[in-house]
Order: sequence, then C-alpha cells, then structure tokens
Amino acid sequence: MAFPEHLQHLIQHDQPLAQLTWLGIGGPARYFAEPHSREQLIELVQSAKEQDVPVRVLGSGSNVLVRESGFDGLVISLAAAALAQVEVDGNQMAAGAGAKLSHAITHAVGAGLGGLEHLAGIPGTVGAAICGNASGAGGEIGSTVAAVEVLDDDGTVRTIPADQLQFSHRKSNLSGLMILSVTFQLEPRDVSTLTKRLQKLWIVAHNQRPFDEPRIAQPFIDPDGFSVDDLIQQAGMSGMRLGNVSLASNKPNYLLAHSGASSDDVVELLNRVREQVSLQSGIDLQLNLQIW
Ligand SMILES: Cc1cc2nc3c(=O)[nH]c(=O)nc-3n(C[C@H](O)[C@H](O)[C@H](O)COP(=O)(O)OP(=O)(O)OC[C@H]3O[C@@H](n4cnc5c(N)ncnc54)[C@H](O)[C@@H]3O)c2cc1C
Repeated sequence: MAFPEHLQHLIQHDQPLAQLTWLGIGGPARYFAEPHSREQLIELVQSAKEQDVPVRVLGSGSNVLVRESGFDGLVISLAAAALAQVEVDGNQMAAGAGAKLSHAITHAVGAGLGGLEHLAGIPGTVGAAICGNASGAGGEIGSTVAAVEVLDDDGTVRTIPADQLQFSHRKSNLSGLMILSVTFQLEPRDVSTLTKRLQKLWIVAHNQRPFDEPRIAQPFIDPDGFSVDDLIQQAGMSGMRLGNVSLASNKPNYLLAHSGASSDDVVELLNRVREQVSLQSGIDLQLNLQIW
C-alpha cells in the first residue's frame, strides 16, 4: 500500500503488537502508526479507506488478544499528546480518546468533579472505555457521557449527542466507529472528599486482582443476573491450565498468560470454558476480550 509521501515517516511495517498488549502475545500489524495530530489521523484513515485497508485503534491493549497471524491492516495508536488531552469546562470535561482513563479520573477529581471515580482501577484509555461501556461496582461510564466525537472512515468528524448514544452492559452503539473524544457531564463535589473516595476505590480495585502479574485479561462479560466467576467455578474449571495459559483459581474470569503462551492457547481455553459453562448452565458466555 502507498501512503502519501508526507505520512510515510509515521508508518511502521510489520510492527509486533504483542508488546503493546497486556497479554503480550500474538503477531504483527502490517502497518502501524501513531499520528501526532488530528489532521494526520484523518489523512491516514482516508488513505487506508481509499485502498481498502482495514483500520483498528489500539488503546492500552488491556482488552485485545492478537492472533498469531497478526492483523493484516493498519493499527493506529491515539497516544500522542494532541489526541489525549483532558480539559475541564464548568461541570463538563472533554477527554481525547487516547487519554488514559486513570488520568481522566484524577483530572476530574482534582477539579472537584465527581461521577467517574468508581471506574478507578480499570486499565485502558478513554476511547476504549466508551466503546465498551466500561463498568465498575458503582456503575457504567456511559451514564456520564454528554457527547462523543467520532471519525468516520471517509475522514468525516461528527459529534453524537447523548440522546443518540446507547449503552448497555459492556456494550455501546459506537462499536466499529473510531472515537476521537468524549465530553463527560459530571457533578461538582468537594475535592478532598472525592480524593479520599478515589484512593479507597483504587485500593479495592487493585486488591481484587488475583495476580500481581501484568499479563492478564478479563475475558468474559457477566451475563444478566449471573457472575462469570461463579459459572466457571460451577463448571469445575477454576484454575484450569491449557498450554501456557491459565485461569485464576479464586477469580476464574481472570486469565493469565505464562511465559511461552500463544494466542492459540488462549482461544482454545476460552472455547473450552464456553463449552463447559454452556453444558452445565445453558448459558452462552459472551467475550469482553476483543480477538484480532
Ligand atoms: C486486570 C484487568 C481488569 C479489568 N477490569 C475491568 C473492569 O473492572 N471493568 C471493565 O469494564 N473492563 C475491565 N477490564 C477490561 C479493559 O480494561 C477495558 O475493556 C478497557 O476499556 C480497555 O481499554 P484499552 O485502552 O486497553 O483498550 P484496548 O484493549 O486497546 O482495545 C479494546 C477495544 O477497544 C477498541 N478501541 C480502543 N480505542 C478506541 C477508540 N478510540 N475508538 C474506537 N474503538 C477503540 C479497540 O479497537 C479494541 O476493539 C479489565 C482488564 C484487565 C486486564
């Protein structure tokens, strides 16, 4: 594929993706780019569209499993400062999709704006959190959104207001769109009370992780009224190991990639879990983890 001459310096060919994902496995992207500005991003997307090259955004890689064959297209990172800015205006906060969710939360708390702190401890970027309606014990991110700015594959930027957004458990109607930025509608609160609450919530979230390892994922979505952990436990699969991948024994909806693990191991283990849970409970577990 020929990207315009002035964008060539942004393109890396056959970029390994493993090191950019939490699980640390999988093959390369045919093309990889981290644009420095919105203009560069738009040109890259238009250029890929003209040549029928599929495009995906990679955030922090905490919810992506890359297959061993890699991704035959263009992977874009929105991590550059221009695409990850966070700004407060009254009770609203605008965040670039590439901003870390943790940064957006601490920014809001520091400005005395509440509503996001219950999401403390969820890894990843704002864009991915909105796309997948990230949720914690206190609720879902979607309920705080006033508007989302998206980039269509022809390079058009448009703003979708809250009344046209649909959020359900770990889902939104934004799937398949590239999120550029989000405006949150937050509530004014006392900064020191918010800060203490945030610290507590962060410690709770961190203590809930069964491993101190970085190479983990939370593969399944809790079905309505059920806990994935309970369903996997009842199917007798807690702690199960396949190849170099295993499930946690106390919280089996956490998967750990050991040294030498492959994406095939992960896919195989997830298929077996789905099969067994379906046999035992009749419930078809849905994946949260995005398999590329
Ligand atoms: C230890 C651990 C704990 C977790 N706990 C929770 C939890 O409590 N609650 C929860 O909801 N999730 C949780 N997750 C899952 C994960 O953190 C979330 O799904 C998070 O939102 C992923 O963010 P990311 O930037 O890492 O996304 P990535 O893994 O990089 O990408 C995930 C998906 O989002 C898409 N995407 C990324 N950016 C954009 C964008 N700008 N526009 C459109 N699509 C985009 C990607 O293409 C991909 O399909 C947990 C994961 C781990 C590993």
